[in-house]
Amino acid sequence: MSTDKVSFQEFAENGDLLKLTMRQAALQSESAFLKSIEWPSCRVTLIDTGILLLEPKGPAPTSERKNIVISCGVHGNETAPIEIVNQIVKDICSGQLKVKSSLLLIIGNPLAIIEGNRFTAENLNRLFKENLNTGENYETIRAKKLMNVLKSFYGEANNIHYDLHTAIRASVHEKFAIYPYQGDKPCSLDQLSFLQASGINTILFSHAPAGTFSYHSNNVYGADAFTIELGQVKNFGKNDMRNFLDISRNLKLLIQGEVVPIRKFDAEEFNLFSVCHEIINTSDNFRFHITEDIKNFTTFPTGTLLSEDGDNQYRTSNRDESIVFPNPNVPVGQRVALVIKPTDI
Ligand SMILES: [Zn+2]
Repeated sequence: MSTDKVSFQEFAENGDLLKLTMRQAALQSESAFLKSIEWPSCRVTLIDTGILLLEPKGPAPTSERKNIVISCGVHGNETAPIEIVNQIVKDICSGQLKVKSSLLLIIGNPLAIIEGNRFTAENLNRLFKENLNTGENYETIRAKKLMNVLKSFYGEANNIHYDLHTAIRASVHEKFAIYPYQGDKPCSLDQLSFLQASGINTILFSHAPAGTFSYHSNNVYGADAFTIELGQVKNFGKNDMRNFLDISRNLKLLIQGEVVPIRKFDAEEFNLFSVCHEIINTSDNFRFHITEDIKNFTTFPTGTLLSEDGDNQYRTSNRDESIVFPNPNVPVGQRVALVIKPTDI
C-alpha cells in the first residue's frame, strides 16, 4: 500500500486531521484528495490538504441548516486553534460529536505549520481578494484554492465563518475578535453575544475592506464572519487547552445544531474599539516609537508620539487611544500597527 493510502486509512480511523495534513503537505501529495468516507453522523470528503468537508446524514434539523466554516492555521505558528479544530475532527470521527450542519474545517497554511513560521512567502491573511495580482507563491496559490472551496460551499443564507488565530503579542484583553468592515450593514448582536458566551468580550470593528479570510466570507457571501484571537502564540503542546473550553464548547454546540446559551447584548459588558489610524512603514527613515514588548490594547496619554518619518508624525489625539498588532519589522508600504479608540454601537 502507498504511504498516502496508509495515512488516509489511519485518518479515517482516528480523525487526526493535523497528522494527515502534515504528511500530505510534506509529500506535496495530490493523490489522496476528494476521498469520501462515512463517519457516524456525516459523510466526510477531503477536498485538499487540510480542507475537510463534512455533510450531515439524515434529514435537516427543524431549524434551518447552517453552512459553517471553522478555520485555523492561516498563520502557521498559531497552534492553539489548530489543536481546537483537530479535537473537533477527532470527536466527530469517534461519534462523540454529531454533525447537523454542513461543515467545512480548514487548516489554512500547512507548509508554514511544518516550518513553524507565520507564512512561507507572504502573509496569507492579506491575500483573500478576488482580483489578486501579486506574483505566484505558496500562499497566493493557497488563497485562490481556499476561495474556490468557499465558493462551492456557501449557500444563499445561514453562512458562518470563525477564523481562529492567536496573536504574536501578549494582550491587555487576552481574547478578542475582529468584526470585518461592514459599510452600512448593521452588525449582528446575536453574534456578539455568541462571542461573549465563548469568552470573547473585546471586539475591534474594522474600518476598511481587507484581504482577510473573514472579510472575504462576509463581503462576498454575507457570512457572519470573524477573525478571532484566542491568546498568545505558543508551540504545539505548550497551549493550556483549558483556556479555550468556552469557545470549543460553543463551536461543538453549533455543529450539533444545539442552542448556545447567550445573553441579550449589553454594550456595558463589552470592550468595543474602532480603528482611528493605520501606521504604515513609509520609508527607510520611518521610526516607530513603541517598545518591542508592548501589549496589544495598551493605552497612551493624548499627544504621545507613536511614529514619525521626517515631518510626518503620528501623535495620539483621542482619549485612551491604544494599538494592536504592532510589528515594526514589515517592508516599506506595509502596516506597522493599528491605532484604535473605544467606541460604542
Ligand atoms: Zn494569525
